[in-house]
Amino acid sequence: MIIDTHCHLNDKRFEKDLDEVIQRAFDADVKGMIIPGADPAELPRAVEIAEKYDNIYFAVGVHPYDKEDFDLSFLEKHITHPKCIAVGECGLDYYRLPDDAEAKAADKAAQKTIFKEQIALAKKYGKPLIIHIRDASRDSLDILIEENAREVGGVLHCYNASPILLELDRHGFYYGIGGVITFKNAKKLVEILPQIPKEKLLIETDAPYLTPHPHRGERNEPFYTTLVAEKMADILQMERAELEEIVLANTQKLFNRFF
Ligand SMILES: [Zn+2]
Ligand SMILES: [Zn+2]
Repeated sequence: MIIDTHCHLNDKRFEKDLDEVIQRAFDADVKGMIIPGADPAELPRAVEIAEKYDNIYFAVGVHPYDKEDFDLSFLEKHITHPKCIAVGECGLDYYRLPDDAEAKAADKAAQKTIFKEQIALAKKYGKPLIIHIRDASRDSLDILIEENAREVGGVLHCYNASPILLELDRHGFYYGIGGVITFKNAKKLVEILPQIPKEKLLIETDAPYLTPHPHRGERNEPFYTTLVAEKMADILQMERAELEEIVLANTQKLFNRFF
């Protein structure tokens, strides 16, 4: 049994056939899903989906790309919902910064501020974090340690294979592995995977993005976590069932839920 710990089921690309997408996952023993927050405008839809299905949960959070729409009180309004399982996705993303030096510095500073506010929110309510890091490993690592995020722990979703982030294992963090592991150019991730303690691995899709091989370019969906599990088991030279059992226990431990 697999839990897709990161899928944007509230994305417009699932509007027409969400029931089928979910059924396809359930039929393939993908029995639970977590919808991370990203754009606050899409949060009500995530709540609606989580209320409809037993094993689907949501998180409240604002992606660094949506930082202009960050509103702490709006997140706080939803965090006490019984299906709210975590805070995120939040973090730092330096992939698309402005060219101008001053604007770049201001953008980074704004990202750091809302990241810290979301860590504080997670600590206030005792929820784990779902963390997004792109081209910002050093700053993210520093913030997570300085803000004592280990108090609640969390997952580095779509782990970027940065070796310095392996240190966060000691601070209560997990590593979310998704479709990238199946890509032909995923050499770094394939090489670093065995260095992550097995009891710190989680599985995700980041659907509708990052679709695994051989479906790259198509819409991703939770069913494809089966391809991720297959590939991980292959790299780690384990039986897929054994890997799934370990990852499920990890998921239950971090999110404090029995899916
Ligand atoms: Zn992300
Ligand atoms: Zn995401």
